[in-house]
Amino acid sequence: MAKVIIIGAGGVGTVVAHKVAADPVFTDIILASRTVSKAEAIARAVGGNRIATEQVDADSVPELVSLFRKYSPDLVINVALPYQDLTIMDACLECGVNYLDTANYEPKDEAKFEYKWQWAYKKRFEEAGLTAVLGCGFDPGVTSIFTAYAVKHYFDEIHYLDIVDCNAGNHGMAFATNFNPEINIREVTQKGRYWENGRWVETEPHEIHQPIDYPEIGPKESYLIYHEELESLVKNFPTLKRARFWMTFGQEYLTHLRVIQNIGMARIDEVDYNGTKIVPIQFLKAVLPDPKSLGENYTGLTSIGCRIRGVKDGRERTYYIYNNCDHEAAYRETGTQAVSYTTGVPAALGASLVARGVWGGSGVFNVEEFDPDPFLKELGPLGLPWVEVFDGDLEV
Ligand code: NDP
Repeated sequence: MAKVIIIGAGGVGTVVAHKVAADPVFTDIILASRTVSKAEAIARAVGGNRIATEQVDADSVPELVSLFRKYSPDLVINVALPYQDLTIMDACLECGVNYLDTANYEPKDEAKFEYKWQWAYKKRFEEAGLTAVLGCGFDPGVTSIFTAYAVKHYFDEIHYLDIVDCNAGNHGMAFATNFNPEINIREVTQKGRYWENGRWVETEPHEIHQPIDYPEIGPKESYLIYHEELESLVKNFPTLKRARFWMTFGQEYLTHLRVIQNIGMARIDEVDYNGTKIVPIQFLKAVLPDPKSLGENYTGLTSIGCRIRGVKDGRERTYYIYNNCDHEAAYRETGTQAVSYTTGVPAALGASLVARGVWGGSGVFNVEEFDPDPFLKELGPLGLPWVEVFDGDLEV
């Protein structure tokens, strides 16, 4: 029996709210966000008076502390933005609350996501006897758990890991991002980076690309980008000789992105506009489609998985584990598209495992440090079934 506060009433928060509300381990659910009307709309959609709502500015530790003192939750699910990770972790420590998120901390004024800021909280969470679960969405999240599952069951050592993320959906818009535009554009315009032979290799943005064949979808041009789970995976699985992350982008999307960058709309520093300070990328977010609104006309599949090569009993073998998710089915169930759905379902499941004491311990953990078995046993029935391919051609 547990009391949970969800912070963030966006696309991912909508899915988390639906799934947490359907889980009997959660006796009390509070959905808190910056714009309370959005939280109220989600609570109404879930129905049954299952979810209470609150307004909170999660950039403010005192506001979070007074919210936590009001409800004394066991756990906070942070699905606001990566900028709020540290303030929410501070408030959790002050009030004795467990913590879970889906994206690592990013400073607002620097497009740089790294675990170092959150890993620095390890000792404080250990001393407080609290659990902090980092990166429990799909990627990071399920991809990290897929990797841990492969290591636990099928390999003595893994050597090559390629995480392949395809969105073959069509939302009918000329340009839109599938999750928060500001975070998304910051992520995909960064330089590429991958791990090889004990060091990071940097590439120009989208410099390396190749077609990859995705199950039930077919070949799609896939671009090597840096993604945050690579940092923790190479640390937690030191036998890895190479670890890379690939994401599909359509030509139309890349053309828009290039224009956005070239005209300065991806800038994250303040500019003066008629005497008012604005940050171009934040202004852009205000005029782009809300990712939550894409669901209604979204068709097609996402396909995200891990392609792994390593050795078992002295013999080289390959393993591919993936989930395909249908935008239309996700929308029918929760009113949001598959990108929010594939993030929100794992977050709700991870929270449930913590609430039930299946996952736990004192400290700050990346999800691959927990036992992958109970998570993967429940992931399919919860809406994200997964498929395994043994000793196939990995292509990459
Ligand atoms: P949205 O922009 O749709 O939602 C974010 C929500 O957080 C909004 O409701 C917003 O409020 C709220 N919020 C923002 N700032 C604050 C604040 N200071 N205080 C309180 N609430 C705040 O984003 P998504 O739902 O698409 O993404 C949520 C998170 O999930 C992000 O961190 C994203 O990086 C992560 N993510 C992780 C993935 C994974 O696989 N691991 C994949 C996709 C996303 P308001 O409505 O007022 O703007």
